[in-house]
Amino acid sequence: MYPVLSSLKEPFQYRRPESAAAAAVEGQTAGGKGKRKPRAKNTSQTLKQMWSYLIAYKGRLAAVIVMVMLSSAFSLLGPYLAGTAIDHFLVNRDSGFVVFLIGMAVVYALHSVTMWLQSIWMIAISQKTVYLMRVQLFEHLHRLPIPYFSKRQHGELMSRVTNDIENVSSSLNSSVIQVFSSVLLLIGTVSVMLSLSPLLTLLTFLVVPLMLMGMKWITKQTGRLFKAQQRNLGDLNGYIEETLSGQRIVKAFSQEQTVIAAFKERNERIRLSGFWAQTISGFIPKLMNALNNLSFAIIAGIGAIFVLNDAITVGVIVIFAEYSRQFTRPLNDLANQWNTLLSAVAGAERVFDVLGEEEERKDEGTAGELAEVKGAVVFDHVTFAYEGRTATINDVSFSVSPGETIALVGPTGAGKTTLIQLLCRFYDPSSGSILIDGHDSREVKRENLRSHMAFVMQDPFLFEGTIRDNIRYGKLDASDTEVEQAARLANAHTFIMRLKDGYHAILKPDGSGISQGQKQLLAIARAILANPSILVLDEATSSIDTVTEIKIQEALQRLMQGRTSFVIAHRLNTIQQADQIVVLQDGAIIEKGSHAKLLEQKGFYSSLVNGQMNNGLLVE
Ligand code: ADP
Repeated sequence: MYPVLSSLKEPFQYRRPESAAAAAVEGQTAGGKGKRKPRAKNTSQTLKQMWSYLIAYKGRLAAVIVMVMLSSAFSLLGPYLAGTAIDHFLVNRDSGFVVFLIGMAVVYALHSVTMWLQSIWMIAISQKTVYLMRVQLFEHLHRLPIPYFSKRQHGELMSRVTNDIENVSSSLNSSVIQVFSSVLLLIGTVSVMLSLSPLLTLLTFLVVPLMLMGMKWITKQTGRLFKAQQRNLGDLNGYIEETLSGQRIVKAFSQEQTVIAAFKERNERIRLSGFWAQTISGFIPKLMNALNNLSFAIIAGIGAIFVLNDAITVGVIVIFAEYSRQFTRPLNDLANQWNTLLSAVAGAERVFDVLGEEEERKDEGTAGELAEVKGAVVFDHVTFAYEGRTATINDVSFSVSPGETIALVGPTGAGKTTLIQLLCRFYDPSSGSILIDGHDSREVKRENLRSHMAFVMQDPFLFEGTIRDNIRYGKLDASDTEVEQAARLANAHTFIMRLKDGYHAILKPDGSGISQGQKQLLAIARAILANPSILVLDEATSSIDTVTEIKIQEALQRLMQGRTSFVIAHRLNTIQQADQIVVLQDGAIIEKGSHAKLLEQKGFYSSLVNGQMNNGLLVE
């Protein structure tokens, strides 16, 4: 793949293009690669956090609660009125039936209205809440340090912003209300029943312990399974994203079958957890139904005996029969919604997990801004180790004067990319320091530091939008004329004008539709527009057609003119022209100097050049 220039201002990640395919090829699981540390967060803490969001809408929430109370009261009143009607109008043959009917109609109408109001208000609250959560999560993701992303799959993170938040939303919409109204209904039903006939109430409730035990067992099983399902879904999303973005490599290595097999394995895990979660939770209504019928039989049978003994009226049996249905329904709802709530809590926990991650370390209080950077860079005894690893960069020292080009050369894994990441402060050295124009880079605000740099990397970042906007990414307030000037300097103008819509041509998200070389020219234009003092170029490892190659080299010469340039170099041509060559091996500088001087030394560099040059490219 040919490298494409892009400004450092872009949200690039040091994710090697090979990594996706490598993982696919090796069939690594997301759990193995992007493993999250299990956190000691618990449900009550997650609920507390969720509450802190909801409390912002306390007025509306109170209104919802009032509506839930009213609707519960109306739904209690309905059967009560029906029972009373039987006693008055059927048994006693009282008058006033029409008024009574109207009264009942009003009660049922009010029940519907209150249900409807509580539902739309709660939807509004939940949508606002998840809107805020999504914004916060997205913003937070952009403030997280690069190491966080290198440890995780993108798809898995995406799953949190989409699926998990959606779960929170749907359960806030319905479950919260349902759980609350179920509890109210339960209390109401039991109270009225007790007041009418304590003995019959007791008999009706004989089935409750059975119900509770059954439900407890089922929810315990399903809660675990729903959690697993969500985790598996995140895993699958991660895998899809990874293999799609690494598609070329998957194809190039003919790993389609391996990838599909690994996909099937993950898909199967979702199927299994989904199957069991839904099958087991599907038992709940069946169980409830059976117990409901049992309770109905008790009421009808024993109630009839009571009526015959004049202990209660027929109306009371009707009320009890209705209520017994009404109290199993909330129990049923509670059990069902409990699962949804659990999955929402699991989702919320995963969201809060990300929100709880430490952001990129804040700039030190004393950190300042550099208005202008000339481009003098000094690495002063820099040592650095990635988390949990031995030193990757070992006591590296060199200095670059403004405008110089420095070529970083060395075998794969020598630490070239890591040096660059230290330069732009994705990581900070564990000891030693990096000086920019004499200022310790840790004393410069990250954003300011990076605004003086532009980056050239192997992996293109072109977004869906016009060519003009893609170039403008280097300097958001650039005028159209400036964009065109930059494009001309980058030798991109001619090809842009040949496109049907010129500068207004829309690029696809992956930048397809234009050639690799053209992508690179656009990226050079972007970097020219950014006008950085320090340029970092990750040079191509593969060749491109000669005409475009010449255009690119010419554009690069213009871009590098007068700027301090760090080049991860592979082309002998580039290396020869560099003012300094730094040869790295195992994180340490083994040779340093000009091309001629290093050749004279007849050391590692000279053997590299003499032994491993192929077609003008230094192959490793
Ligand atoms: P180069 O660019 O010269 O190929 P790198 O700087 O990418 O080398 O890598 C240097 C060493 O650091 C390698 O051994 C690599 O495996 C390791 N490394 C690179 N990135 C990470 C990371 N994010 N976490 C842990 N180790 C890393």
